[in-house]
Amino acid sequence: MSQTLFEKIIAGDIPGDIVYEDEHCVAFRDVAPAAPVHLLLVPRKPIPKLAEASDGDSALLGHLLRTAPKVAAQEGCGEAFRLVINNGEGAGQSVFHLHLHIIGGRELSWPPG
Ligand code: AMP
Repeated sequence: MSQTLFEKIIAGDIPGDIVYEDEHCVAFRDVAPAAPVHLLLVPRKPIPKLAEASDGDSALLGHLLRTAPKVAAQEGCGEAFRLVINNGEGAGQSVFHLHLHIIGGRELSWPPG
């Protein structure tokens, strides 16, 4: 099966502005930022979308949620940031490799629309 765009960024085959990595995940800047801080936190394992994660991925999903605040703090979000997971085309998912958007660095209104 062909590699996802994010696998290629993680592998260094295409450029990515990586700000964090560990053995399970990588974070890099979104190429089309919606806010001053807009990062994508991506598991190295190419799970296509959240709904396709399995029970065996629970620890990995927990790790992503535990890591996101640390990366947000590292990148200067302060106490306020938003996590977004788009699941499926109808929700705006365009890259089918699970990722958390970490958005911050400005006032964030609610609801997001
Ligand atoms: P989603 O629409 O939730 O699947 O999010 C995919 C995100 O990937 C979008 O916010 C895009 O701007 C971002 N994106 C697409 N290509 C790249 C790239 N080469 N480097 C960094 N971010 C990208």
